[in-house]
Amino acid sequence: MEFEVHYQSLWDWASDLLKDTSVGLYFVFDAQRLSNFDGSSFFHFIDEPWIADNFWNVQSDFPPDGKVLAFILYTDKAKLLSFGQQKGYPVVVQLANLPTWIWNSEGLGGGQVVGWLLIVNEDKRYSGKTSFANFKNLIWHELFKEILDTISVYLKNGCWVTCWDGVPHQLFPTILILSADYEEQAVMALICGVMSHHPCLVCLIHQNEISKFPMNCELCMSKNASKTLQEVWSQNQVDEKEQILIKQGLHDVDSAFHAVTNMDIYHTLCWDCLVIICGESF
Ligand SMILES: [Zn+2]
Repeated sequence: MEFEVHYQSLWDWASDLLKDTSVGLYFVFDAQRLSNFDGSSFFHFIDEPWIADNFWNVQSDFPPDGKVLAFILYTDKAKLLSFGQQKGYPVVVQLANLPTWIWNSEGLGGGQVVGWLLIVNEDKRYSGKTSFANFKNLIWHELFKEILDTISVYLKNGCWVTCWDGVPHQLFPTILILSADYEEQAVMALICGVMSHHPCLVCLIHQNEISKFPMNCELCMSKNASKTLQEVWSQNQVDEKEQILIKQGLHDVDSAFHAVTNMDIYHTLCWDCLVIICGESF
């Protein structure tokens, strides 16, 4: 089967911004750690992505001159767009190296549509079957990989870009934040969703234990999910494969994010917060 994906290069979009004199000067390339003194002790605070631990950890693995180019990707199925007969939903990119007031704006440096993901229509013959759920997840990841491939080519050695001030920087791309609603994040993380044994995107809390939250649970990690899939693929019997997958609440699909080796998908996701209004939760 053939599926179409429409996208533009994340790298080219970011390079244009780095060279632009009105936006380029606002880029922050180095991770920072800031603390406040409350009268008795210092405490670490975070108000921009480059002050957060993930930014610091990613940069620590680069050569001394290596700088992080930190992408934020946002998808929302609710923002359906029509393109002729086709329906799809947009992938929007932002850069976490820019201050929030720029990447959250509608001007240059604000969110840019860089991809157009396909809606795989439900088919009554297959709906609700595990194989169809795997199929839909596989399509999503294959298409998303095309978008990620526009930066993953620069992961190993980075890329020198001469910025707006004529100064060259060796930049290494990463994905710092993936923003979406729960349903969409479950597809990104390849977890089986609310009804599975481990429905959380962040930790391995069991479904039966959720009412006991907050409790200390092992955090989800890409390397552990990969290990589980390796175990699944080494089984000969379909039943045995399914048992492992059900126990872990995972889909048997190769993640598009494996290509971005300096990120852990589970560290880029977050809970979908409930909004409490007048005592009712939505
Ligand atoms: Zn959790």
